Amino acid sequence: MHVVVTGAAGFLGRYLTDALLAEGETVTALDRRPYDHSTHPAGSDVRVVTADLLGRDERVRQALATADAVFHLAGCPGVRDHGPAVAWARHRDNVLATARVLALVTADTPLVVTSSSSVYGGTPGGPCAEGDPLRPLGGYARSKVAVEELCAARRAAGGNIVVARPFTVAGEGQRPDMALASWLAAARAGRPLRVLGSLDRTRDVTDVSDVVRVLRDLAGCATPGIVNVGTGVGRPLRDLVAAVAAALAADVRTEVVPAGREEPADTLADTRRLRTLLGYVPQTDLLDLVSRQAAAAQRQAALVP
Ligand code: NAD
Repeated sequence: MHVVVTGAAGFLGRYLTDALLAEGETVTALDRRPYDHSTHPAGSDVRVVTADLLGRDERVRQALATADAVFHLAGCPGVRDHGPAVAWARHRDNVLATARVLALVTADTPLVVTSSSSVYGGTPGGPCAEGDPLRPLGGYARSKVAVEELCAARRAAGGNIVVARPFTVAGEGQRPDMALASWLAAARAGRPLRVLGSLDRTRDVTDVSDVVRVLRDLAGCATPGIVNVGTGVGRPLRDLVAAVAAALAADVRTEVVPAGREEPADTLADTRRLRTLLGYVPQTDLLDLVSRQAAAAQRQAALVP
C-alpha cells in the first residue's frame, strides 16, 4: 500500500512514518522540512518529498492524487503564539494547506486529518464529546475549526475522511514549545518550571506511540467522522511536574504565571467513540512516558556541540 504522510518531519509525523515503514508500507514522507530517513533499515520503502504543500512541486500533486491512504498532519501547531505573522502561518499551513490536500486526494481515498482538542476550549465540567459545541479560545483553535469545516464539506460530498482531535501528545521528540519538553529543559538547566495558571489545571496526555497507532487504525475505519484521541484521564499539572522530578531524580521548582485566554483550564477526552470505532483506548503510564522523553532529550542534548 502507498501511504502519504504530510508533516512527516514533525513530532507526530516522524513517529507515524516510522510505524508505517516498520509495517512494510510504502510511505511518501512529505514535509517542507527535510525528513531524515537515515535511521531506517535498508529496504524500507520511503520516498522523501521535501516540498511545501502550497508550492508548485509536481511530486506533491502526484503523491496525494495516487495514494492508497493519506495522513494529513502538516500544520502550524501551538496555542500560545500571538501576532499577525502567526495568524497568517496558521491560516496558510492549517486552513489553506488542508484545502489543497482535499483538492488533490480523491474522494474515496481514506484520509485522516489532525485537528485538535483545542476546538472545545476546555472541558465544560466533564469530558468533551465529539458532538459538543465548539468554543475555540484563540487563533490556533479557530484555524482548526476552519479545517474541520472544510473536512465536513468534503465528508458531506461523500469523502472518506476521519478528523482526529488529539489531546496533549507527549513522548520522545515532543515539540520544544510544549509543557513537558520545556519543563525537562528548564529542570536540566536548574531553572524553575513555568506553570501556566495553576498546578491544579489538568491535561489529558497521550503517549505519541499510542496516538500514531490510533491514527493508523482510524484510516481503516468503516464509519469515518470526528473522533477524540485521548485517554479519558485528566492529569493535574502537579502530577506532570512530579513526573519530571522523578524522571530526572532531581528537586524541581515551579513558577506559576497567569495563563493566556487562549489556554483552556482543563482538557479531558470523552473516549466512547474512539472505543466504539477501534475497540480500545490508549492508556498512559505518565512516569514511564516522561522518563523516556527525558532520556531522549538528554541524548539529544549530548549530540549538540
Ligand atoms: P510539528 O510542528 O512537529 O509538525 C508539523 C510539520 O508540518 C512540520 O514538520 C512542518 O514543517 C510541516 N508543515 C507545516 N506546514 C507545511 C506545509 N505548508 N507544507 C509542508 N509541510 C508543512 O507538529 P506536531 O506536534 O507533530 O503536530 C502534528 C499535527 O497534529 C498538527 O496539525 C497539530 O496541530 C496536531 N496536533 C498536535 C498535538 C500535539 O500535542 N503535538 C495535539 C493536537 C493536535
